[in-house]
Amino acid sequence: MEQNNKSYKLPELSYGYNELEPYISEEQLKIHHQKHHQAYVNGANKILEDTDSVDLKKLAFQIGGHKLHSLFWGNLEPNGGGEPTGKIAEYIETDFDGFENFKEVFNKTALSVEGSGWAVLAHDKEIERLLIMQIEKHNMNIYPTVEILMVLDMFEHAYYIDYKNEKTKYVDAFWSLVNWGEVNKRLG
Ligand code: FE
Repeated sequence: MEQNNKSYKLPELSYGYNELEPYISEEQLKIHHQKHHQAYVNGANKILEDTDSVDLKKLAFQIGGHKLHSLFWGNLEPNGGGEPTGKIAEYIETDFDGFENFKEVFNKTALSVEGSGWAVLAHDKEIERLLIMQIEKHNMNIYPTVEILMVLDMFEHAYYIDYKNEKTKYVDAFWSLVNWGEVNKRLG
């Protein structure tokens, strides 16, 4: 497929494929990035090329997949995790009564995703408050103007090689990879 300025591209990761180990293996991350994310990029570009038969539902799925994965890679970093820092730490304290409680709510949200979807931490500027929400599949059923700060991919393809059906272990591992600096950057 021809690549030009008007097509989506797979973003490079800012870390090596083996650098998120032992939490996410090289094999798992490679397949997730090079196969699954790439497929959304290709799928979106392909539909956009065909200008007279834009299937909006399919397009939303592919573009949503691309955008969410791009956000997700930025939410991870080698030697990440630990307690939140900076502005996000203050928000978590105020809006969720502390980090432990925040984690519990976020984990519950992630683990209760039905089928494929995402757990999302967003910020609503209007009320200066954090919101935790779910995205079904890639449908960005998120309120307009609300900023997405952090996402966790709960599609099986994100964890199956490493954790099989043990979703809870995958969600726990996520907390050892979170890039709080990036969350703060998105918070602005
Ligand atoms: Fe994914």
